[in-house]
Amino acid sequence: MGIIVQKFGGSSVADTEKLYNVCKHIIKEYNRSQSVVVVVSAQGKTTDKLISEEKEITENPDLREHDCLVSVGEQITISKLAMCLKEKGYNAVSYTGWQLPIITDSVHCGARIKYIETEKIKKQLEAGNIVIVAGFQGINEIGDITTLGRGGSDTTAVALAASLKADRCDIYTDVDGVYSSDPRIIENVKKLDLVTYDEMLELASLGAKVLHNRCVEIGKNYEVPINVKSTFIDESEGTRVINNKDLESLYITGVAKDDNISRLTIIGLENKIGRTYKVFKLLSENKINVDTIVQSAGEHAVKDISFTVKTNETKKALKIINENLIELGAKEVICCDKLSKISIVGVGIVNNPGVAAKVFEALYENNINMHMISTSEIKISVLVNKKEANLALKAIHDKFY
Ligand code: ADP
Ligand code: ASP
Ligand code: MG
Repeated sequence: MGIIVQKFGGSSVADTEKLYNVCKHIIKEYNRSQSVVVVVSAQGKTTDKLISEEKEITENPDLREHDCLVSVGEQITISKLAMCLKEKGYNAVSYTGWQLPIITDSVHCGARIKYIETEKIKKQLEAGNIVIVAGFQGINEIGDITTLGRGGSDTTAVALAASLKADRCDIYTDVDGVYSSDPRIIENVKKLDLVTYDEMLELASLGAKVLHNRCVEIGKNYEVPINVKSTFIDESEGTRVINNKDLESLYITGVAKDDNISRLTIIGLENKIGRTYKVFKLLSENKINVDTIVQSAGEHAVKDISFTVKTNETKKALKIINENLIELGAKEVICCDKLSKISIVGVGIVNNPGVAAKVFEALYENNINMHMISTSEIKISVLVNKKEANLALKAIHDKFY
């Protein structure tokens, strides 16, 4: 019988009672398949708490030390869960990311997994033990602890499933599947029984935090079947993430919101060939991910460029651009962190000319201004004021559902 990887998120393991609830799912699967590997997150809001404690010390932590601190939460969960299982009469052994090890690159706070050493896991499974692995963390080639980015335990789980050639990866969370939008914000959401890796990748990348986007990427590349299901509803059907070939994709898959963005605008950039290239080369050399980009028409001697970055990279991006203003040939850079991005995702967008108009109509009817627009074949994203973001999400969702 094949290996099954189960992952339980922060709210699923928030206290001792919930850890025992998680044991029920693990034991059920163990009695069925005998080979269960469990990945867990930090309990409840532990990671947030560690970050706010860090902020009492510094707003600009050394990222090596930051990763060492925030990885602690998962270590608490793995040991406690192993103890709970032992109390229930099942042998379980826990591993941190560096005990296995899970080798990553050195990009602190957003490390990518290069390789997972699975020998210890396999030996424990052969001995009939349940293996518990700390999500979100790894170790780089010089022995420093790294983390995979917020929500990264999903990626640990799917990467482990790929490395172990597991039969499936079950992601247990506090909702019973993937919906057409965030069920905690929108009322009349529709549950998706099936969603393709491509659709899920877009939704996750655009802010639907139910899955970490990189876990979907790994799932797609290594053909790991992923199920999203509820920790709190027994035998919930959940959502299956599968390949395109198995599914006639939906016209519109869902609507997602991302509050975790800031817009930077570089003003008075000389309108000369290569200036835009210089800006984005500088950002990429500093490993800053840039999203939506808009450049003014450039019919004058100077032009403006606006782009979005993740909130936690805003200060770094601002500092780098400010330090290089003269070199870039720009006047100033300004920042707006009061915006959110709302995106509609679906493979049908490319063949349906009316989608963009319907999105804009929904916003117009609710008197919501758009600050930036970007489109691709399968998504349309708009930037709106953060305080109007939930209304915008609902307005767009209601137009299509
Ligand atoms: P976990 O702690 O289990 O990893 P997360 O909080 O990271 O859980 O992800 C689950 C949350 O994702 C849900 O509580 C829900 O509010 C949010 N979410 C956002 N978009 C969606 C969506 N389209 N479908 C389901 N949940 C969504
Ligand atoms: N504990 C980490 C976080 O809160 C990782 C995760 O939950 O997936 O982001
Ligand atoms: Mg999560």
